[in-house]
Amino acid sequence: MIYLDNAATTKVSEAVFAAMKPYFCEQYANPSAIYTFAGKSMKAVDEARKDVAGLIGAQPNEIYFTAGGSESDNWAVKAAAETYRAKGRHIITSAIEHHAVLHTCQYLEKQGYEVTYVGVDEYGVIKLDELAAAVREDTVLITVMAANNEIGTIQPLKEIGEIAKRNGILFHTDAVQAYGHIPLDVDALGIDMLSGSGHKLYGPKGIGFLYIRKGVRIGAYVHGGAQERSRRAGTHNTPGIVGMGAAARLAAADLGENMKKQAALRDYLIQRVLDEIPYSRLNGHPADRLPGNASFCFRFIEGESLLILLDQKGICASSGSACTSGSLDPSHVLLAIGLPHETAHGSLRLTLSGETTKEEIDVTVEELKKIVGRLRSMSPLYEDFCKSQEG
Ligand SMILES: *Cc1c(COP(=O)(O)O)cnc(C)c1O
Repeated sequence: MIYLDNAATTKVSEAVFAAMKPYFCEQYANPSAIYTFAGKSMKAVDEARKDVAGLIGAQPNEIYFTAGGSESDNWAVKAAAETYRAKGRHIITSAIEHHAVLHTCQYLEKQGYEVTYVGVDEYGVIKLDELAAAVREDTVLITVMAANNEIGTIQPLKEIGEIAKRNGILFHTDAVQAYGHIPLDVDALGIDMLSGSGHKLYGPKGIGFLYIRKGVRIGAYVHGGAQERSRRAGTHNTPGIVGMGAAARLAAADLGENMKKQAALRDYLIQRVLDEIPYSRLNGHPADRLPGNASFCFRFIEGESLLILLDQKGICASSGSACTSGSLDPSHVLLAIGLPHETAHGSLRLTLSGETTKEEIDVTVEELKKIVGRLRSMSPLYEDFCKSQEG
């Protein structure tokens, strides 16, 4: 098997699993209890909090553990809207957000909020002038993702942070794809809230965090016990939190090295595909993209068919987003960068991990060439196109 769907989820690394293991059957105490046995669990939670915070230049008490990226996004957006309702009911986001943000915004629209969806350029970079122009007296939140999960484009967070700060508006970023994969510093980038998730960086599923800058007064999301400084109730997911911390620590240890290695392999993959498969295009920004992301469109082809045939060769890939798979609509991200429906339908996302090898890339490209050729040979659209070229 060749696994090239690391943007959907990653394998839990052996080191992360080893760190988590004692917290299931041995050190199982509820961290909030008062006996010494529980104190060890709380200490592990505190250590993890430090590691998670350290990766983005935050303070440990600005990190709130959640059950994943979706919850963190929901919390940030809904709680900001609710807390600042007296100031206004306008939110600004981008057209290419993950559904955890987009659908939350749509939910708020039904509750009487107004949302501006700022467009992106052909590379998927947010239009900063459009963003600045969208700011109103009653804008309470700007939420723009750090890096896109489908096409890999990294957003100009510093510039967005400056627009937010200049206008006294909170800035939240969904950094689920970026956290642990590229450097992020909440102070340098002017970020007030940041969402992260364990399973996108070799940690376990079902654990994530929301960074909330000290002084940002947004309310609780899950009400109940006093965990997470009374802002996110629920017994701590100790193994998950320990896993999240270990994943953050490992990512921090060789972030620069991993980025360089992965980006080199990614560029090799991109170059081979564009050189060797006709009528293919790269989606997303050529340089400002996640080190592990390669996103393509192949004309005259259905992405779904491509995925099925790749799967028959043991290659796990995606058409862009796990959430849009199974639906007939092309991805909102590919439409937002201006692709026509026919082109957007032929999309393929290959996302690398730290373990991906050049051999795996070579096998994938060879199979891809054969499959694309085969699908095109059966495509009436392609036949018409070839005839028109001859004529
Ligand atoms: C995966 C992902 C999410 C959701 O995170 P979960 O932990 O799976 O809930 C949110 N945003 C982006 C950009 C993602 O890639």
